[in-house]
Amino acid sequence: MITVVGSLNIDLISTVDRFPKPGETLIGSEFRTSFGGKGANQAVAAARLGGTVQMIGCVGDDPFGHEYLTYLKKEGILVDRVKPVTHVSTGTALIVLAQGENSIIVVPGANFQLAPEDIDRMKDALEKSDIILMQLETRLDTVERVLFWAERFGNRTILNPAPFQPIPDGWWEMITYLTPNEHEAEALMKSATFKEEFLEKLIITLGKKGAVYHEKGRKIEIPAPQVDAADTTGAGDTFNGALAHFLSEGLSLGEACRYAVHAASLSVTKPGAQGGMPTRAQLESFMN
Ligand code: ADP
Repeated sequence: MITVVGSLNIDLISTVDRFPKPGETLIGSEFRTSFGGKGANQAVAAARLGGTVQMIGCVGDDPFGHEYLTYLKKEGILVDRVKPVTHVSTGTALIVLAQGENSIIVVPGANFQLAPEDIDRMKDALEKSDIILMQLETRLDTVERVLFWAERFGNRTILNPAPFQPIPDGWWEMITYLTPNEHEAEALMKSATFKEEFLEKLIITLGKKGAVYHEKGRKIEIPAPQVDAADTTGAGDTFNGALAHFLSEGLSLGEACRYAVHAASLSVTKPGAQGGMPTRAQLESFMN
């Protein structure tokens, strides 16, 4: 089983000709919502590939939260450990698309209600996991508590260090793999807590160039297949979910990365973060 501890956000996306000035009201041309948040995105990526996935996180006790849980259940994800909390709204990302750019306001809301004590109460769920996958859209003290239990139980962990924040002291030793993109990797390797010996924990995604990691002093490059990219939103999330899934199936790191790169590259050919995440059958036919 794969456990994802992370965020669930509803994306509220408006398209408009130009960005509004302070105090100004503009009429937009289009509005849509989508299910997002790095945690849930990665859970969906793993579940589409056929993994048994359980999600740990928080939503608000509001229509967005309930809708999200219904949707995740339809995707086959176990949500009994997603806590609906009162008095705080489900996490949202307010996205304005204008002139080929976007501006985004993320309100973490319920995502920041997941506390270390909740993790203590759910440690039985962690114990049963083959892989635990996390990002940095939830509280750092909560992520740290997950790492603590994972180390006690001997679970493998993947931390997708996004959005980037410096890795606190003592974390590197507890994490099995970190999966930064190119920019996050550069920042990570410059950070005070990084040591050369941690290089082999990094699996770095390189956009259309694929991914790279180091094993026994050797650099291993996994090239991405060439595709017509339509929307690269969520490419990293697909990579992470797929990596967790294929590692949990017992594949070697190299093989799991090869599948994850292909899953992510296939996902960018379709619009939306979760919209393009492939099923196992779609991935296999793409790779053959
Ligand atoms: P992030 O979305 O976190 O910034 P990357 O941009 O590194 O992550 O992309 C993650 C993975 O998505 C890559 O390893 C690759 O497999 C795939 N990918 C992203 N952009 C492209 C592209 N333009 N063409 C093919 N594959 C891509």
